[in-house]
Amino acid sequence: MNTTISETIQGQRNFFLTQETKDLAFRKKALEKLRKEIIAREDAICDAIYADFKKPHFETLATETQFVLAELNLVLKKLSSWARPKSVSSSWLNFPSTDKIYKEPFGTILIIAPWNYPFQLALLPLVAAVAAGNTVVVKPSEATPNTSKIIKSILDAVFPIEHVAVIEGGVKESQELLKERWDYIFFTGSTRVGQIVYESAAKHLTPVTLELGGKNPCIVDESSSLDLAAKRICWGKFLNAGQTCIAPDYILVHKSKKEDFTATLIKMIKVSYGEDIKKSTDYARTVSNSHFNNLKDMLIGEDILFGGETDPEDNYISPTLVNDPQLDSKLMQGEIFGPILPILSYESEDDIHKVVQRYGKPLATYVFSNNKAFQNRIIQKYSFGGGAINDTVIQVANKKLPFGGVGASGIGAYHGKISFDLFSHHKPIVNRATWLDVPFRYPPYSLPIKFAKKLKTLL
Ligand code: NAD
Repeated sequence: MNTTISETIQGQRNFFLTQETKDLAFRKKALEKLRKEIIAREDAICDAIYADFKKPHFETLATETQFVLAELNLVLKKLSSWARPKSVSSSWLNFPSTDKIYKEPFGTILIIAPWNYPFQLALLPLVAAVAAGNTVVVKPSEATPNTSKIIKSILDAVFPIEHVAVIEGGVKESQELLKERWDYIFFTGSTRVGQIVYESAAKHLTPVTLELGGKNPCIVDESSSLDLAAKRICWGKFLNAGQTCIAPDYILVHKSKKEDFTATLIKMIKVSYGEDIKKSTDYARTVSNSHFNNLKDMLIGEDILFGGETDPEDNYISPTLVNDPQLDSKLMQGEIFGPILPILSYESEDDIHKVVQRYGKPLATYVFSNNKAFQNRIIQKYSFGGGAINDTVIQVANKKLPFGGVGASGIGAYHGKISFDLFSHHKPIVNRATWLDVPFRYPPYSLPIKFAKKLKTLL
Protein backbone atom coordinates (compact mmCIF):
# COMPACT_ATOMS: atom_id res chain seq x y z
CA MET A 1 0.00 0.00 0.00
CA ASN A 2 1.27 3.47 -0.90
CA THR A 3 1.36 5.84 2.04
CA THR A 4 0.43 9.39 1.12
CA ILE A 5 2.36 12.40 2.32
CA SER A 6 -0.45 13.37 4.70
CA GLU A 7 -0.60 9.86 6.14
CA THR A 8 3.17 9.84 6.64
CA ILE A 9 3.05 13.12 8.51
CA GLN A 10 0.09 12.01 10.60
CA GLY A 11 1.93 8.80 11.44
CA GLN A 12 4.92 10.84 12.58
CA ARG A 13 2.75 13.17 14.65
CA ASN A 14 1.13 10.21 16.40
CA PHE A 15 4.54 8.67 17.04
CA PHE A 16 5.88 11.95 18.42
CA LEU A 17 2.98 12.06 20.86
CA THR A 18 4.01 8.67 22.30
CA GLN A 19 7.03 10.57 23.80
CA GLU A 20 9.39 7.85 22.61
CA THR A 21 11.66 10.26 20.71
CA LYS A 22 12.22 12.20 23.93
CA ASP A 23 14.06 9.26 25.41
CA LEU A 24 17.80 9.87 25.02
CA ALA A 25 18.63 6.18 24.85
CA PHE A 26 16.16 5.80 21.96
CA ARG A 27 17.75 8.68 20.05
CA LYS A 28 21.27 7.39 20.62
CA LYS A 29 20.38 3.87 19.54
CA ALA A 30 18.87 5.18 16.31
CA LEU A 31 21.89 7.38 15.58
CA GLU A 32 24.31 4.55 16.33
CA LYS A 33 22.41 2.39 13.86
CA LEU A 34 22.65 5.18 11.29
CA ARG A 35 26.41 5.50 11.85
CA LYS A 36 26.85 1.76 11.33
CA GLU A 37 24.78 1.80 8.15
CA ILE A 38 26.72 4.72 6.65
CA ILE A 39 30.05 3.08 7.46
CA ALA A 40 28.88 -0.20 5.91
CA ARG A 41 27.67 1.55 2.76
CA GLU A 42 30.29 4.24 2.37
CA ASP A 43 31.61 2.80 -0.92
CA ALA A 44 28.07 2.51 -2.29
CA ILE A 45 27.43 6.16 -1.39
CA CYS A 46 30.61 7.16 -3.25
CA ASP A 47 29.45 5.14 -6.25
CA ALA A 48 26.00 6.74 -6.20
CA ILE A 49 27.36 10.28 -6.13
CA TYR A 50 29.87 9.37 -8.83
CA ALA A 51 27.00 8.07 -10.97
CA ASP A 52 25.20 11.38 -10.47
CA PHE A 53 27.96 13.82 -11.46
CA LYS A 54 31.28 12.01 -11.45
CA LYS A 55 32.23 13.43 -8.10
CA PRO A 56 35.68 12.00 -7.23
CA HIS A 57 35.55 9.42 -4.43
CA PHE A 58 38.10 11.36 -2.40
CA GLU A 59 35.87 14.44 -2.49
CA THR A 60 32.83 12.39 -1.52
CA LEU A 61 34.64 10.94 1.46
CA ALA A 62 36.05 14.30 2.55
CA THR A 63 32.97 16.44 2.03
CA GLU A 64 30.05 14.04 2.40
CA THR A 65 30.35 10.73 4.26
CA GLN A 66 33.25 11.49 6.62
CA PHE A 67 31.72 14.89 7.27
CA VAL A 68 28.45 13.29 8.35
CA LEU A 69 30.24 10.58 10.35
CA ALA A 70 32.22 13.24 12.21
CA GLU A 71 28.94 14.96 13.09
CA LEU A 72 27.47 11.66 14.27
CA ASN A 73 30.53 10.96 16.43
CA LEU A 74 30.27 14.39 18.01
CA VAL A 75 26.53 14.10 18.60
CA LEU A 76 26.79 10.65 20.13
CA LYS A 77 29.55 11.82 22.45
CA LYS A 78 27.87 15.05 23.54
CA LEU A 79 24.14 14.39 23.28
CA SER A 80 23.57 13.72 26.99
CA SER A 81 25.17 16.98 28.04
CA TRP A 82 23.57 19.04 25.25
CA ALA A 83 20.10 17.70 26.12
CA ARG A 84 20.42 18.23 29.86
CA PRO A 85 18.36 21.16 31.21
CA LYS A 86 20.73 24.08 31.65
CA SER A 87 20.61 25.89 34.99
CA VAL A 88 20.82 29.66 34.94
CA SER A 89 21.00 32.04 37.88
CA SER A 90 17.60 33.25 38.99
CA SER A 91 16.18 36.73 39.29
CA TRP A 92 16.01 38.34 42.74
CA LEU A 93 12.41 39.18 42.03
CA ASN A 94 11.61 35.46 41.89
CA PHE A 95 13.54 34.55 45.00
CA PRO A 96 13.57 31.74 45.95
CA SER A 97 13.60 29.79 42.68
CA THR A 98 15.61 27.40 40.52
CA ASP A 99 15.67 28.45 36.86
CA LYS A 100 16.40 26.12 33.98
CA ILE A 101 16.25 26.01 30.19
CA TYR A 102 14.83 22.76 28.84
CA LYS A 103 15.67 21.65 25.29
CA GLU A 104 12.47 20.36 23.79
CA PRO A 105 12.00 18.87 20.31
CA PHE A 106 9.73 20.86 17.98
CA GLY A 107 7.86 17.83 16.69
CA THR A 108 7.73 16.88 13.02
CA ILE A 109 10.36 18.46 10.81
CA LEU A 110 10.71 18.82 7.05
CA ILE A 111 14.19 18.85 5.51
CA ILE A 112 14.48 19.77 1.82
CA ALA A 113 17.94 19.18 0.36
CA PRO A 114 19.75 20.39 -2.78
CA TRP A 115 21.88 18.35 -5.20
CA ASN A 116 25.33 19.85 -4.87
CA TYR A 117 26.41 18.01 -1.70
CA PRO A 118 23.48 15.63 -1.97
CA PHE A 119 24.35 13.30 0.89
CA GLN A 120 25.84 15.73 3.39
CA LEU A 121 23.17 18.39 3.05
CA ALA A 122 20.35 15.91 3.61
CA LEU A 123 22.01 13.93 6.40
CA LEU A 124 23.69 16.65 8.46
CA PRO A 125 20.44 18.40 9.43
CA LEU A 126 18.77 15.01 9.81
CA VAL A 127 21.31 13.86 12.40
CA ALA A 128 20.72 16.98 14.48
CA ALA A 129 16.94 16.87 14.11
CA VAL A 130 16.85 13.26 15.32
CA ALA A 131 19.37 14.01 18.07
CA ALA A 132 17.07 16.76 19.33
CA GLY A 133 14.17 14.27 19.50
CA ASN A 134 12.12 15.19 16.46
CA THR A 135 10.53 13.05 13.79
CA VAL A 136 11.70 13.94 10.30
CA VAL A 137 10.66 13.85 6.68
CA VAL A 138 13.55 14.29 4.23
CA LYS A 139 13.20 15.24 0.60
CA PRO A 140 16.47 14.73 -1.26
CA SER A 141 17.09 16.44 -4.60
CA GLU A 142 15.69 14.93 -7.77
CA ALA A 143 18.75 16.18 -9.67
CA THR A 144 20.92 13.50 -8.05
CA PRO A 145 18.64 10.43 -8.37
CA ASN A 146 21.24 7.81 -7.43
CA THR A 147 22.09 9.60 -4.21
CA SER A 148 18.42 10.16 -3.50
CA LYS A 149 17.83 6.42 -3.87
CA ILE A 150 20.64 5.43 -1.53
CA ILE A 151 19.60 8.01 1.06
CA LYS A 152 16.14 6.45 1.03
CA SER A 153 17.50 2.96 1.22
CA ILE A 154 19.79 3.82 4.17
CA LEU A 155 17.19 5.74 6.14
CA ASP A 156 14.48 3.13 5.48
CA ALA A 157 16.84 0.47 6.83
CA VAL A 158 17.63 2.46 9.98
CA PHE A 159 14.39 4.17 10.99
CA PRO A 160 10.74 3.21 11.06
CA ILE A 161 8.79 5.53 8.75
CA GLU A 162 6.99 7.12 11.72
CA HIS A 163 10.36 8.33 12.98
CA VAL A 164 12.20 9.25 9.76
CA ALA A 165 10.69 9.07 6.27
CA VAL A 166 12.19 9.89 2.89
CA ILE A 167 9.96 11.31 0.19
CA GLU A 168 11.72 11.24 -3.15
CA GLY A 169 10.73 13.54 -5.98
CA GLY A 170 11.04 17.00 -7.43
CA VAL A 171 9.17 20.28 -7.44
CA LYS A 172 5.71 18.65 -7.36
CA GLU A 173 6.48 16.53 -4.30
CA SER A 174 8.25 19.44 -2.66
CA GLN A 175 5.23 21.66 -3.17
CA GLU A 176 2.92 18.99 -1.79
CA LEU A 177 5.10 18.72 1.28
CA LEU A 178 5.08 22.48 1.71
CA LYS A 179 1.28 22.55 1.78
CA GLU A 180 1.35 20.61 5.04
CA ARG A 181 1.76 22.06 8.50
CA TRP A 182 5.22 21.40 9.94
CA ASP A 183 6.77 22.20 13.28
CA TYR A 184 10.00 23.30 11.59
CA ILE A 185 11.29 23.50 8.02
CA PHE A 186 14.98 23.26 7.20
CA PHE A 187 15.63 24.18 3.57
CA THR A 188 18.89 24.23 1.64
CA GLY A 189 18.81 25.51 -1.92
CA SER A 190 18.49 28.59 -4.06
CA THR A 191 17.32 31.98 -2.84
CA ARG A 192 14.42 31.81 -5.33
CA VAL A 193 13.02 28.59 -3.87
CA GLY A 194 13.90 29.77 -0.37
CA GLN A 195 11.34 32.53 -0.83
CA ILE A 196 8.69 29.99 -1.83
CA VAL A 197 9.50 27.89 1.25
CA TYR A 198 9.35 30.94 3.52
CA GLU A 199 5.95 31.94 2.15
CA SER A 200 4.54 28.44 2.67
CA ALA A 201 5.93 28.31 6.20
CA ALA A 202 4.43 31.69 7.05
CA LYS A 203 0.91 30.34 6.50
CA HIS A 204 1.33 28.09 9.52
CA LEU A 205 3.80 30.32 11.40
CA THR A 206 6.31 27.52 11.03
CA PRO A 207 9.87 28.45 12.01
CA VAL A 208 12.45 27.98 9.26
CA THR A 209 16.11 27.73 8.58
CA LEU A 210 16.98 28.77 5.04
CA GLU A 211 20.45 27.84 3.83
CA LEU A 212 20.70 29.72 0.54
CA GLY A 213 23.31 30.91 -1.93
CA GLY A 214 24.93 34.14 -3.03
CA LYS A 215 27.69 35.71 -5.10
CA ASN A 216 30.79 35.25 -2.95
CA PRO A 217 33.63 37.69 -3.52
CA CYS A 218 37.24 36.64 -3.14
CA ILE A 219 39.55 39.62 -2.72
CA VAL A 220 43.29 39.29 -3.34
CA ASP A 221 45.35 42.32 -2.38
CA GLU A 222 48.87 43.31 -3.39
CA SER A 223 50.41 42.03 -0.14
CA SER A 224 49.09 38.46 -0.44
CA SER A 225 51.28 35.43 -1.09
CA LEU A 226 50.21 34.69 -4.65
CA ASP A 227 51.30 31.03 -4.78
CA LEU A 228 49.36 30.12 -1.68
CA ALA A 229 46.40 32.28 -2.66
CA ALA A 230 46.19 30.65 -6.09
CA LYS A 231 46.49 27.15 -4.61
CA ARG A 232 43.76 27.68 -2.05
CA ILE A 233 41.45 29.49 -4.47
CA CYS A 234 41.94 26.83 -7.13
CA TRP A 235 41.01 24.12 -4.62
CA GLY A 236 37.97 25.93 -3.16
CA LYS A 237 36.64 26.99 -6.55
CA PHE A 238 37.03 23.79 -8.56
CA LEU A 239 36.19 21.33 -5.79
CA ASN A 240 32.88 19.69 -6.78
CA ALA A 241 33.35 21.44 -10.17
CA GLY A 242 32.55 24.80 -8.63
CA GLN A 243 29.14 23.65 -7.39
CA THR A 244 29.75 24.68 -3.80
CA CYS A 245 27.54 27.28 -2.16
CA ILE A 246 30.54 28.85 -0.39
CA ALA A 247 32.97 28.64 -3.32
CA PRO A 248 34.49 31.93 -4.45
CA ASP A 249 32.16 33.26 -7.13
CA TYR A 250 34.51 35.92 -8.54
CA ILE A 251 37.98 37.28 -7.89
CA LEU A 252 38.78 40.91 -7.18
CA VAL A 253 42.54 41.17 -7.42
CA HIS A 254 44.70 44.28 -7.07
CA LYS A 255 45.48 45.56 -10.56
CA SER A 256 49.24 45.42 -9.98
CA LYS A 257 49.01 41.65 -9.30
CA LYS A 258 46.35 40.61 -11.78
CA GLU A 259 48.72 39.21 -14.41
CA ASP A 260 50.91 37.33 -11.94
CA PHE A 261 47.91 36.01 -10.05
CA THR A 262 46.20 34.77 -13.20
CA ALA A 263 49.37 33.03 -14.43
CA THR A 264 49.84 31.38 -11.02
CA LEU A 265 46.21 30.28 -10.93
CA ILE A 266 46.52 28.71 -14.39
CA LYS A 267 49.67 26.91 -13.25
CA MET A 268 47.79 25.62 -10.18
CA ILE A 269 44.87 24.37 -12.25
CA LYS A 270 47.29 22.37 -14.40
CA VAL A 271 49.12 21.02 -11.35
CA SER A 272 45.81 19.97 -9.79
CA TYR A 273 44.05 18.42 -12.77
CA GLY A 274 46.80 17.80 -15.36
CA GLU A 275 47.05 19.04 -18.95
CA ASP A 276 44.05 16.96 -20.08
CA ILE A 277 41.55 17.91 -17.40
CA LYS A 278 38.74 15.85 -18.90
CA LYS A 279 40.74 12.73 -18.12
CA SER A 280 41.39 13.74 -14.52
CA THR A 281 39.70 11.44 -12.02
CA ASP A 282 39.78 14.31 -9.54
CA TYR A 283 37.40 16.62 -11.37
CA ALA A 284 33.60 16.35 -11.20
CA ARG A 285 30.98 17.21 -13.82
CA THR A 286 28.14 19.72 -13.75
CA VAL A 287 25.04 18.05 -12.41
CA SER A 288 22.66 18.14 -15.36
CA ASN A 289 22.29 19.13 -18.95
CA SER A 290 20.20 22.16 -18.09
CA HIS A 291 22.74 23.36 -15.53
CA PHE A 292 25.50 22.72 -18.08
CA ASN A 293 23.67 24.77 -20.74
CA ASN A 294 23.01 27.58 -18.33
CA LEU A 295 26.71 27.77 -17.45
CA LYS A 296 27.78 27.50 -21.07
CA ASP A 297 25.52 30.41 -21.97
CA MET A 298 27.28 32.52 -19.37
CA LEU A 299 30.47 32.24 -21.43
CA ILE A 300 28.97 33.69 -24.62
CA GLY A 301 30.83 36.85 -25.61
CA GLU A 302 33.24 36.66 -22.65
CA ASP A 303 37.02 37.01 -22.82
CA ILE A 304 38.21 33.56 -21.76
CA LEU A 305 41.67 33.61 -20.22
CA PHE A 306 41.89 29.88 -19.66
CA GLY A 307 39.68 26.82 -20.19
CA GLY A 308 36.25 27.18 -21.73
CA GLU A 309 36.21 23.60 -23.04
CA THR A 310 32.79 21.98 -22.86
CA ASP A 311 31.23 18.62 -23.72
CA PRO A 312 27.43 18.38 -23.53
CA GLU A 313 27.52 14.56 -23.68
CA ASP A 314 29.31 14.52 -20.36
CA ASN A 315 28.07 17.82 -18.84
CA TYR A 316 31.75 18.72 -18.77
CA ILE A 317 33.00 22.27 -18.37
CA SER A 318 36.71 22.67 -17.76
CA PRO A 319 37.96 25.05 -15.07
CA THR A 320 37.50 28.39 -16.80
CA LEU A 321 38.89 31.83 -16.05
CA VAL A 322 37.14 34.86 -17.52
CA ASN A 323 38.76 38.26 -17.90
CA ASP A 324 36.95 41.30 -16.57
CA PRO A 325 33.30 40.58 -17.44
CA GLN A 326 30.84 43.47 -17.49
CA LEU A 327 28.99 43.73 -14.19
CA ASP A 328 25.67 43.52 -16.02
CA SER A 329 26.71 40.42 -18.01
CA LYS A 330 24.93 37.08 -17.48
CA LEU A 331 28.04 35.85 -15.69
CA MET A 332 27.94 38.66 -13.14
CA GLN A 333 24.20 38.93 -12.62
CA GLY A 334 23.81 36.15 -10.09
CA GLU A 335 25.50 33.20 -8.45
CA ILE A 336 27.52 31.20 -11.03
CA PHE A 337 27.57 27.85 -9.21
CA GLY A 338 29.93 26.13 -11.62
CA PRO A 339 33.62 25.96 -12.62
CA ILE A 340 33.77 29.46 -14.10
CA LEU A 341 35.78 32.10 -12.30
CA PRO A 342 35.63 35.75 -13.39
CA ILE A 343 38.75 37.74 -12.60
CA LEU A 344 38.16 41.43 -12.00
CA SER A 345 40.68 43.94 -10.78
CA TYR A 346 40.60 46.95 -8.48
CA GLU A 347 42.87 49.86 -7.68
CA SER A 348 41.18 51.36 -4.63
CA GLU A 349 38.89 50.14 -1.87
CA ASP A 350 36.17 52.23 -3.50
CA ASP A 351 36.47 49.97 -6.56
CA ILE A 352 36.00 46.92 -4.33
CA HIS A 353 32.99 48.55 -2.72
CA LYS A 354 31.32 49.29 -6.07
CA VAL A 355 31.41 45.61 -7.01
CA VAL A 356 30.78 43.92 -3.66
CA GLN A 357 27.81 46.04 -2.63
CA ARG A 358 25.93 45.25 -5.88
CA TYR A 359 25.14 41.73 -4.75
CA GLY A 360 23.58 42.11 -1.32
CA LYS A 361 24.79 39.86 1.46
CA PRO A 362 26.55 36.75 0.13
CA LEU A 363 26.99 33.42 1.91
CA ALA A 364 30.77 33.80 2.05
CA THR A 365 33.57 36.31 1.53
CA TYR A 366 37.29 35.63 1.30
CA VAL A 367 40.19 37.98 1.66
CA PHE A 368 43.76 37.08 0.74
CA SER A 369 46.11 39.60 2.26
CA ASN A 370 49.04 39.89 4.64
CA ASN A 371 47.86 43.34 5.66
CA LYS A 372 45.94 42.98 8.93
CA ALA A 373 44.28 46.39 8.69
CA PHE A 374 42.98 45.57 5.20
CA GLN A 375 41.76 42.15 6.32
CA ASN A 376 39.86 43.74 9.20
CA ARG A 377 38.35 46.48 7.08
CA ILE A 378 36.91 43.95 4.61
CA ILE A 379 35.66 41.57 7.29
CA GLN A 380 34.01 44.34 9.30
CA LYS A 381 32.70 46.54 6.50
CA TYR A 382 30.66 43.93 4.65
CA SER A 383 27.89 41.71 5.88
CA PHE A 384 28.04 38.07 4.73
CA GLY A 385 27.31 34.59 6.10
CA GLY A 386 30.90 33.67 6.99
CA GLY A 387 34.28 33.37 5.42
CA ALA A 388 38.00 33.04 5.75
CA ILE A 389 41.16 35.10 5.65
CA ASN A 390 43.84 33.60 3.39
CA ASP A 391 41.82 30.51 2.55
CA THR A 392 38.53 29.44 1.00
CA VAL A 393 35.67 27.12 2.01
CA ILE A 394 37.41 25.70 5.13
CA GLN A 395 35.23 27.63 7.59
CA VAL A 396 32.77 24.78 7.09
CA ALA A 397 35.20 22.34 8.74
CA ASN A 398 34.99 23.79 12.25
CA LYS A 399 31.85 22.48 13.93
CA LYS A 400 32.08 25.18 16.56
CA LEU A 401 31.46 27.84 13.91
CA PRO A 402 27.87 28.57 12.90
CA PHE A 403 27.30 27.84 9.21
CA GLY A 404 24.64 29.91 7.49
CA GLY A 405 23.81 33.02 5.57
CA VAL A 406 22.44 36.47 6.28
CA GLY A 407 19.93 38.52 4.30
CA ALA A 408 19.38 36.96 0.89
CA SER A 409 21.91 34.18 1.60
CA GLY A 410 19.82 32.71 4.39
CA ILE A 411 18.23 32.65 7.79
CA GLY A 412 19.72 30.69 10.70
CA ALA A 413 22.87 28.63 11.04
CA TYR A 414 23.85 25.09 12.01
CA HIS A 415 26.62 22.51 12.57
CA GLY A 416 27.65 20.68 15.74
CA LYS A 417 25.95 21.82 18.92
CA ILE A 418 24.50 24.81 17.09
CA SER A 419 22.42 22.35 15.04
CA PHE A 420 21.16 20.59 18.15
CA ASP A 421 20.11 23.93 19.60
CA LEU A 422 18.50 24.90 16.28
CA PHE A 423 16.23 21.86 16.27
CA SER A 424 15.25 22.34 19.92
CA HIS A 425 12.82 24.77 21.43
CA HIS A 426 14.54 26.38 24.40
CA LYS A 427 11.90 26.24 27.09
CA PRO A 428 12.54 28.34 30.21
CA ILE A 429 11.10 27.07 33.47
CA VAL A 430 11.15 28.88 36.80
CA ASN A 431 10.65 26.49 39.68
CA ARG A 432 9.40 28.58 42.60
CA ALA A 433 9.93 27.45 46.15
CA THR A 434 6.80 27.36 48.24
CA TRP A 435 8.27 28.14 51.65
CA LEU A 436 8.32 31.90 51.01
CA ASP A 437 5.89 34.21 49.23
CA VAL A 438 6.91 37.87 49.28
CA PRO A 439 3.62 39.79 49.26
CA PHE A 440 4.50 43.06 47.52
CA ARG A 441 3.60 42.01 43.94
CA TYR A 442 -0.04 41.33 44.87
CA PRO A 443 -2.75 43.98 44.85
CA PRO A 444 -3.63 46.00 46.74
CA TYR A 445 -0.07 47.27 46.12
CA SER A 446 1.56 48.28 49.32
CA LEU A 447 5.08 49.06 48.14
CA PRO A 448 5.80 52.81 48.08
CA ILE A 449 6.29 54.09 44.51
CA LYS A 450 9.87 55.14 45.24
CA PHE A 451 10.69 51.42 45.91
CA ALA A 452 8.81 50.32 42.80
CA LYS A 453 11.07 52.64 40.81
CA LYS A 454 14.07 50.65 42.06
CA LEU A 455 12.72 47.27 40.92
CA LYS A 456 15.04 47.35 37.89
CA THR A 457 17.95 46.55 40.19
CA LEU A 458 16.28 43.26 41.14
CA LEU A 459 15.53 42.08 37.59
P1 NAD B 1 16.95 24.51 -5.67
O1 NAD B 1 16.46 25.64 -4.85
O2 NAD B 1 16.64 24.50 -7.12
O3 NAD B 1 16.38 23.12 -5.09
C1 NAD B 1 16.51 22.77 -3.74
C2 NAD B 1 15.37 21.85 -3.36
O4 NAD B 1 14.14 22.55 -3.53
C3 NAD B 1 15.28 20.59 -4.19
O5 NAD B 1 15.02 19.49 -3.33
C4 NAD B 1 14.11 20.84 -5.13
O6 NAD B 1 13.40 19.67 -5.44
C5 NAD B 1 13.24 21.79 -4.34
N1 NAD B 1 12.53 22.74 -5.22
C6 NAD B 1 12.94 23.23 -6.42
N2 NAD B 1 12.01 24.09 -6.93
C7 NAD B 1 11.00 24.12 -6.03
C8 NAD B 1 9.77 24.82 -5.98
N3 NAD B 1 9.37 25.64 -6.97
N4 NAD B 1 8.97 24.65 -4.90
C9 NAD B 1 9.35 23.82 -3.89
N5 NAD B 1 10.49 23.13 -3.90
C10 NAD B 1 11.32 23.27 -4.94
O7 NAD B 1 18.51 24.44 -5.40
P2 NAD B 1 19.58 23.45 -6.03
O8 NAD B 1 19.73 23.80 -7.47
O9 NAD B 1 19.29 22.06 -5.65
O10 NAD B 1 20.90 23.89 -5.21
C11 NAD B 1 21.68 24.95 -5.60
C12 NAD B 1 21.45 26.17 -4.72
O11 NAD B 1 21.54 25.81 -3.35
C13 NAD B 1 22.51 27.22 -4.92
O12 NAD B 1 21.89 28.48 -4.95
C14 NAD B 1 23.40 27.09 -3.71
O13 NAD B 1 24.10 28.25 -3.35
C15 NAD B 1 22.43 26.69 -2.67
N6 NAD B 1 23.08 25.96 -1.58
C16 NAD B 1 23.17 26.54 -0.36
C17 NAD B 1 23.82 25.88 0.65
C18 NAD B 1 23.96 26.46 2.02
O14 NAD B 1 24.34 25.72 2.92
N7 NAD B 1 23.66 27.71 2.24
C19 NAD B 1 24.34 24.62 0.42
C20 NAD B 1 24.22 24.07 -0.85
C21 NAD B 1 23.56 24.74 -1.84
